[in-house]
Amino acid sequence: MLLYDLDLPSLTNLLAQWGEPAYRARQIWEGLYLHLYDSPAQFTNLPISLRAKLAEEFTFNPFTVKTFLDSSDGFTRKTLFQLPDGHLIEAVLMRYGDPADMPPSGSPQNQRFWGESPKGTRGARRTLCISTQAGCAMGCVFCATGQLGFKRHLTSGEIVAQVLYYARMLKDVNESVTNIVLMGMGEPFHNYDNVMAAIDRLNDKDGYNFGARRITLSTVGLVPQIRRFADEKRQVNLAISLHAVEDDERLAIMPVAKRYKIDEILDACRYYIAQTGRRVTFEWALISGVNDTPEVAAKLAARLKGLLCHVNAIPLNPTAGYAGQAASRQRAERFKQTLEQAGIPCTIRMRRGIEIQAGCGQLAGAVGL
Ligand code: SAH
Ligand code: SF4
Repeated sequence: MLLYDLDLPSLTNLLAQWGEPAYRARQIWEGLYLHLYDSPAQFTNLPISLRAKLAEEFTFNPFTVKTFLDSSDGFTRKTLFQLPDGHLIEAVLMRYGDPADMPPSGSPQNQRFWGESPKGTRGARRTLCISTQAGCAMGCVFCATGQLGFKRHLTSGEIVAQVLYYARMLKDVNESVTNIVLMGMGEPFHNYDNVMAAIDRLNDKDGYNFGARRITLSTVGLVPQIRRFADEKRQVNLAISLHAVEDDERLAIMPVAKRYKIDEILDACRYYIAQTGRRVTFEWALISGVNDTPEVAAKLAARLKGLLCHVNAIPLNPTAGYAGQAASRQRAERFKQTLEQAGIPCTIRMRRGIEIQAGCGQLAGAVGL
């Protein structure tokens, strides 16, 4: 079993069963989540016999790193992990600095990913995009993960381990993860319990202590889970992948639209906003001629009117299995303007890591294979 799959009460119970004093559980917990140890030998404050027992009973590291790729500007890294049963998942780290401080792409400062921060770290972010499933069952046609199909759910520990892997690397250069987005492979709400357990474990004050407000969960729009999430009132940010303004248009690119109508999704969002007081983000992959016209933008603005929300639009990233093209910059700007003139805030997201297939929807577990 993977040690990261345990929460603190379970670990405490287990150690009590082993006849260990109660403080040992906390020592292990701190080793894992404060000191970021990932091998039994690092737990030098534990007796050798206990270290041996832990090593015998648990896996400390669930992944083999198959390969990693850095973008040419050096600010995006995608790592391909192999799970013990052979499945592949990916996690992407994006380093953002204050744009004024960023050296130009291709400059010597940008040649190395590690050890060299973007010059000046004012407002710098280290955003980590992690996977929640190997593959995905939702089948969105424009998404490489969807094109792959569903392999399996990740355990809570496998989700947490992706964060700790990068946290260790960043620690070596005196940096840390500042934001986590659950936007890698998989549909987080399809793996609800494990995802929430992972979030709670990362959030644990006595452990990694990562603020829920710095975590964003993105869903294809599973209505019952949006409502459950609203009731649980976590401080995690919620993003909904909408991509279309009419049900039939949505169904043409997202099979899940057969199950949940846009009206039901928006109602669930209203419920979420009422329960939490938090703003919802709607994600919109701008596909040329499909959902990037001013007419679509105007309809979208009308549907979202009065909702505490924000639209995050991103020109479509290319994937092997979908012929759709990214909206032009001009169309994207026009889309944004139309929404904003109607009172709906909108940002056009920077595309990151496209040339290493690390952009949104490009994760197919296939780098270097
Ligand atoms: N399953 C979740 C989270 C992972 S996908 C979801 O669908 O929300 C993360 C985001 O990338 C989603 O908004 C998804 O719609 C978007 N996406 C998928 N394929 C894309 C592509 N080819 N280009 C741009 N965005 C894409
Ligand atoms: Fe799954 Fe999200 Fe890709 Fe759709 S966009 S197939 S829900 S990972």
